[in-house]
Amino acid sequence: MDRPRALFVVALVLALCGCTRRAAEQTASGAPGVDGSRILTADREPQNWLTHGRTYNEQRFSSLKQISDQNVGQLGLAWSYDLDTRRGQEGTPIVVDGVMYFTSAWSKVFAVNAATGAALWSFDPQVPGEWGINACCDVVNRGVAVWRGKVFVGALDGRLIALDATTGKPVWEVLTVDRNFRYTITGAPRVVDGKVIIGNGGGEYGVRGYVSAYDAETGKLVWRFYTVPGDPSKSFESPILEKAAKTWSGEWWKTGGGGTVWDAIVYDPELDLLYIGTGNGVPWNEKYRSPKGGDNLLTCSIVALKPDTGEYVWHYQQDAADDWDFDSSEHIILADLVIDGRPRKVLLQAPKNGFFYVIDRTNGALISAKPYTYINWATGVDLKTGRPIETAIARYPGKDPAPIVPGPLGAHSWQPMSYSPLTGLVYIPVNDVGFKFKSADDFEPKKLAANYGIDTVAAGMPQDPKIKKAILDTVKGKLVAWDPVQQKQAWAIERPGPWNGGLLSTAGNLVFEGTASGYFEAYRADTGARLWSFAAQTGVMAGPVTYSVNGEQYVAVLAGWGGVFPLATGEVSFKSGRVQNISRMLVFKLGATASLPTLEPSEKPLLPPLPNRASAVTIRKGEQLYQRYCAQCHGDVAVSGGVLPDLRYSGTLESDAWFSDVLKGILQSEGMVSFAKELSRQDAADIRSYVIFRRNQSVEENQAR
Ligand code: CA
Repeated sequence: MDRPRALFVVALVLALCGCTRRAAEQTASGAPGVDGSRILTADREPQNWLTHGRTYNEQRFSSLKQISDQNVGQLGLAWSYDLDTRRGQEGTPIVVDGVMYFTSAWSKVFAVNAATGAALWSFDPQVPGEWGINACCDVVNRGVAVWRGKVFVGALDGRLIALDATTGKPVWEVLTVDRNFRYTITGAPRVVDGKVIIGNGGGEYGVRGYVSAYDAETGKLVWRFYTVPGDPSKSFESPILEKAAKTWSGEWWKTGGGGTVWDAIVYDPELDLLYIGTGNGVPWNEKYRSPKGGDNLLTCSIVALKPDTGEYVWHYQQDAADDWDFDSSEHIILADLVIDGRPRKVLLQAPKNGFFYVIDRTNGALISAKPYTYINWATGVDLKTGRPIETAIARYPGKDPAPIVPGPLGAHSWQPMSYSPLTGLVYIPVNDVGFKFKSADDFEPKKLAANYGIDTVAAGMPQDPKIKKAILDTVKGKLVAWDPVQQKQAWAIERPGPWNGGLLSTAGNLVFEGTASGYFEAYRADTGARLWSFAAQTGVMAGPVTYSVNGEQYVAVLAGWGGVFPLATGEVSFKSGRVQNISRMLVFKLGATASLPTLEPSEKPLLPPLPNRASAVTIRKGEQLYQRYCAQCHGDVAVSGGVLPDLRYSGTLESDAWFSDVLKGILQSEGMVSFAKELSRQDAADIRSYVIFRRNQSVEENQAR
């Protein structure tokens, strides 16, 4: 081919491509039209909610204002959509041109008409029930991503699945984890320039954290970034891991290291950086993880990566040598703020440890950090070093348990925050709940147990009524409106207990939040005045969204109680109210008058005490095994928060079915696997003796009331 002709062909091809692309821009609507350019300009189409945090900066603020502080009292239920699960609902829906895509527990995906709730399609990835045991914090899912005609979901069992947005049929599926380890996916994928970014969880169970990017068209792995170093006798995957390995001691790789990327993954188009938040090291107690100390990079950190290659750019570690499960995986918001008269590109985060961080996202430098609620493990953060200034009890040095606030639940967990550029406030769902930390006397990691390296019996709720009451009195929740520039609270709404919902703010001067006590509410964004409340019949934890169809504005929230709080914290979880789990999508608009079906009361019958001939030693042994193996799902000291069966009232306490359930995996499809590899028949009998002991204690306590 001679040169002029070649140039002509190139020019023609370019012209054709240009035409085709322009045509696509003009015609593509719905999920097929969602790509980087549309998400970048998401503010031009406030009728949609195109990506997890609505826009790439994940502020969860909408400019829609048909529903406002003037008329929100007329908000009513437009439609609801019942789900076939009674497990926790944490998902944020995506809305594209009148179609809503959302997930429920067990990673199921639904597409519905966003104006009517009429079903379009649904997809069940058929996660094996037994994989549920690997989820520390319920079989939840926090949402899908959409890109060029596909809907992406991370399934609990580690698969990333691309669905056809029109039909819901799988297009491709990849396994993103090694199933020999207890990895789970609960977080929402994000799509950046044709790559689907997904992390995973499992930091409580001995995994090594990483984040991966897959080609959105083919499912091919593009890059993977590990957050903690592996076995140093093998080669390190990246130069930063070689440096990070110098901050570890002992044989950390044998228990995985942790540092999982289980929630926050945020893309910054201005700087072309991807920010990830990493979780705790495993086990929680550094003594058993990295016995000669060290900061244990890159756990409990925010890490900036290049989205094209996964290459490390910078990191900021919030909790060096974490001892408390203070994940830094919580929601990250990007914003431009004027601080001390200077415009700054910042990243805002309120991680579990109780400090609100304002970080320069161009380089990871700490600008400011202040406690956004009561904490007692640190007095502040040293702005020179970026390190917390720890108090004497922080590392639980004594023989007695140290009551540390906040506990592993976090002063704020996965529930998304919202930042309103109109009020300049960040809205944070805050948990006030501590935890008694005591180092385990000896510790050996187990495959089927909680591997914290702390004394889980010492952490349990005492049964002395006075001590119990004193502890429960400290447990609270609140919605805090936080000024990130002044680093101080603007207003707060007190809640009876923790684990309230994610936040949405709008240009209608409104903030929406669901509550753990079973309501969905609207407040004035500037003052916090309560303007509207809807009885949701169930706890509401997920982040709400707003959108419009044919010029009419809707507000949607996924309702349904669950997650780690009612699973693991026992009686503490009752502080928020004893709500049922009724999983459904709730969608509201002005003047709507739909109603929910009448709620069936679910009173537990008061069962009689059972004979228990077990000795105190046996009961004590049963307690130790229960707290290590059972409490994470069935609740602290055998009190269930209502999502999973309360063993104190189990019909199997008096029969051999107890042993079939614990040792033979009879209920495997519901998540109750066989524990026979680690528990003997005698162990199972001891656990039963303890549960019967606790039942009889509870009967006495009820009679005394
Ligand atoms: Ca964690």
